[in-house]
Amino acid sequence: MPLPGHLNPATLDPLSNVEWTPTSAMDEALDLAREAQKVWGEVPFEDRCARVVAIAKRILAHREEALALLQEETGRDPAESLLGEVAFVLSYANGAVGVAKRALATERVRLSPVDFPGKRAVIEAVPRGVIAIIEPWNYPLLQFYKPLFPALLSGNAVIMKPSEHTPRTGAWLAEQCAAELPPGVVQVVQGDGVVGGALVAADVDAVVFCGSVDTGRRIAAKCAERLIPCSVELGGKDAAIVLEDCDLQRTVAGVLQWSMHNAGQDCSSIERVYVVEAIADQFVDQLAATAKRLQVVPHGRDLGPLQNEAQLKVVTAHVADALAKGAKLRAGGEATGDGLGFAPTVLDACTDDMLVITDETFGPVVAVVRVPDEASAIAKANASRYGLCGSVWTKNLARGERIARQLDVGIALVNNHSFPGSVPQIPWTGTKWTGTGTAASIHAYPTFVRRRTIVIDSSSRPDVFWKPVDGSLMELGDAVSAFALGAWTQVFRLISLVSKRVTSIRSFVGPKR
Ligand code: NAD
Repeated sequence: MPLPGHLNPATLDPLSNVEWTPTSAMDEALDLAREAQKVWGEVPFEDRCARVVAIAKRILAHREEALALLQEETGRDPAESLLGEVAFVLSYANGAVGVAKRALATERVRLSPVDFPGKRAVIEAVPRGVIAIIEPWNYPLLQFYKPLFPALLSGNAVIMKPSEHTPRTGAWLAEQCAAELPPGVVQVVQGDGVVGGALVAADVDAVVFCGSVDTGRRIAAKCAERLIPCSVELGGKDAAIVLEDCDLQRTVAGVLQWSMHNAGQDCSSIERVYVVEAIADQFVDQLAATAKRLQVVPHGRDLGPLQNEAQLKVVTAHVADALAKGAKLRAGGEATGDGLGFAPTVLDACTDDMLVITDETFGPVVAVVRVPDEASAIAKANASRYGLCGSVWTKNLARGERIARQLDVGIALVNNHSFPGSVPQIPWTGTKWTGTGTAASIHAYPTFVRRRTIVIDSSSRPDVFWKPVDGSLMELGDAVSAFALGAWTQVFRLISLVSKRVTSIRSFVGPKR
């Protein structure tokens, strides 16, 4: 069955059809992945690193293809895609390799030779097996390679499911992987939530999901039933706090960048700005004036359109709700009429009851709330169901850091926003409705590997607490307890009791054969 309604969102030109994967094909994909994982899991770590880096190099070398697909599927100018999703892929892969070295390193456990004589233990990272990666449409390439690289570095096979809105870029990425990896290590299945649901229900060993809160809840519940790990990274409603002592020009540029990047279709887009009254007029004037200068495709290159019609409806409804409730429109406010474009929008005098403050807008809309002081800004920033990133804009770095620590978010920044999403060493994670998932850094690895401890006992004597339970065991327990409380004099008693216990156990079991 072809995917319905596929249009370039900038031009509304129809795109080529992509075949959906029948849900009945899921078991076959899984069998292939399982066989492939056996091979891939045995490939030495250094070679896996080299393959992952080769995938990244391949993406860069064939970037014109990637940029063309991204332009078709997102409508963005290639320059925005190049900087946002493609140009840093190799440095991301190299960074991910460095992280993997630490995350996957075998750990030696220090066992006390007194408490555990003759024993040693190491903790190893074991690949989960087959990982399902299900992603949304906002960054069709970046969203995949972020979990794909650590999943592969850990020795897993992967089945990817791109969004039904952006299937072509996902398929292209799978082709680049296939060119560098043994067959079946990375596969792609195509379709909507039904196909995604079938993938989760198949016998995969872990799920990485990024998308809406409703879908995330559903997938997390399914994974909980199957007792498999699940990383869910969901929505956001990020706030920026603008203080009277900020560098106004840089703050306007930064807030605009991180609210309009990818036309605001970013889980960490700045959607709410809490600006203190003392600087509010100047800030809003400059923000609105600059927003008006941003050009939407096809009239300029600053912003692409919204990716799909449903998203355009959400953004339009949020702006209408804010205006009906008394917000002041300072820039934009409506669809451009070219494709699914929406003009960069600045709303002033927003209040807590507006959808632009309570719900994720996921569009090029900044809602400004004027607040009397820093305390009120912090309280309002934290009064959200979401908690991904939050930022404070001030020249007083100590003040900024103090406020950042009070933000109820996964990533709190001073004088910047969002960029850690492309840093492989920083855990991309949030709180509340943003979900429990973590992308990137060593903290993402529990989804990709389980830990197996290998314990070797080279002692020739039985352990002193083994059966039988007799008077000497009780005596030994007393001596150990007293010794632990600092009664050093017990040491001689302990030595004699240990030898008594060993003799007792040996005679209980009978002679050596
Ligand atoms: P969505 O939940 O509708 O879809 C996401 C993916 O899940 C798609 O591939 C879809 O086909 C699939 N899917 C849908 N129902 C499913 C089911 N029952 N079982 C399995 N798979 C299913 O989300 P969307 O509208 O595509 O994406 C937008 C959302 O993604 C926004 O809320 C945004 O904030 C969020 N997002 C979050 C992050 C993050 O890092 N926290 C990053 C990017 C996007």
